[in-house]
Amino acid sequence: MYGLDEKLLLKKTYYSVGGGAVLDEDEVGKSRDKNKRVLPFDFSSAKELLQKCKDNSFKISTLMMENEKSMRSSDEVKKSLLNIWATMQESILSGCKSTGKLPITGMRKRASEIYNKLKKRDSFPMVDPLEVMDWVDLWALAVNEENACGNRIVTAPTNGAAGILPAVIQYMNKFLGSSLKDFHEDRVINFLLTAGAIGLLYQRNASISGAAVGCQGEVGVACSMAAAGLAEIMGGTIEQVENAAEIGMEHNLGLTCDPVGGLVQIPCIERNAMAAMKAINAARMALNGDGKHFVSLDSVIKTMLETGKDMMNKYKETSLGGLAVNIVEC
Ligand code: SF4
Repeated sequence: MYGLDEKLLLKKTYYSVGGGAVLDEDEVGKSRDKNKRVLPFDFSSAKELLQKCKDNSFKISTLMMENEKSMRSSDEVKKSLLNIWATMQESILSGCKSTGKLPITGMRKRASEIYNKLKKRDSFPMVDPLEVMDWVDLWALAVNEENACGNRIVTAPTNGAAGILPAVIQYMNKFLGSSLKDFHEDRVINFLLTAGAIGLLYQRNASISGAAVGCQGEVGVACSMAAAGLAEIMGGTIEQVENAAEIGMEHNLGLTCDPVGGLVQIPCIERNAMAAMKAINAARMALNGDGKHFVSLDSVIKTMLETGKDMMNKYKETSLGGLAVNIVEC
C-alpha cells in the first residue's frame, strides 16, 4: 500500500489457499482450529452426521440449524440464507439480461440469447418435457457468465462452480414448487442448510479447491451439495439425501481442471450447466431407491481426495494440460 507521496506504507502478502480461504503470512501453516466453537451437533463424517440425525430425529437441515443457533438466532440465520438466495437470483437475472462478450477471449455471452428464445416458447404444459433442462442450463450459464465477467455471484462452494446451486434451487422453485410441502422461503433455507452440511464434509475431509484436487473438488462438490439439498426438499430420508450426495460426486470423480487461458470460461461455464442437471438426476435416482446403497458418501469423499492427490499437476488449475493446451487458437 502506497501513500500519496508514493511512499510504501504497508506491505503484506496474502495467499489464496483454495476454497475461498485467504490467509496472511502469519496464518499459513498454523492450525485454523484454535478458535473453533464447540457445536451441539458437530460431525466429522457423513456416518456421524446421519447417526446424530437419527438419534435426535432430525433432518440434516434441522441439525445444521441447531448448530447455527449456537452462534446466532434462527432469525439471523434465516435472514442471511435468504440474502444468499437473493444474491444468487440477482446473478441469474443479470446473467440472463447481459449481452456482449466475455472478457479477454471475446466469446459471445450465450445466456441472454437462450433466455430470449425460451421466453418465446414459455408455454405450459411444455410440448417438450426436456425444455426444463434448457431452463436449468440457462440459469447455470447465466451465473457463470457473470462470474467470468467478475460480477457479483455467491461462492458456492467456489466461484468456478457458482452456477450449480442457484440453477438447482431455481429448478426446485419454478418446476416443483406446487408439489412441495415447505413454503418457498423454508425450502430455500433448508436446501442451503443441507447443501452446506455436505460442503462441510468435503472441506473437512478432502478439499474444495481445484488447485488441490482438480475440478471434482469444485464442480463435483457443488453437484453433490445441490443433489443433497434437492433430495431433502423433495421429501428424501436422511439416507436418501446421503445417497444423492454420493451419486452427485461418484460420477464426477477424476474430473480435471484445465481452464483454457487460465480463465474461468472454458470448460467451466458449460460444466456448471451439465453438473446442475447431474445433481437433479442424482436426487431423483436416490429418491427412487430406499436409501440403501453400496458406496457411502464417506468412501466417495475419501476416493475424491486420493484421486486428486494422484492427479498430475497439469490438471490442477495450472492450464498446462487437457483442453487448455489442445484448443487451436486462430
Ligand atoms: S475447470 Fe477448473 S477453473 Fe473451471 S470450474 Fe473446474 S476447477 Fe474451476
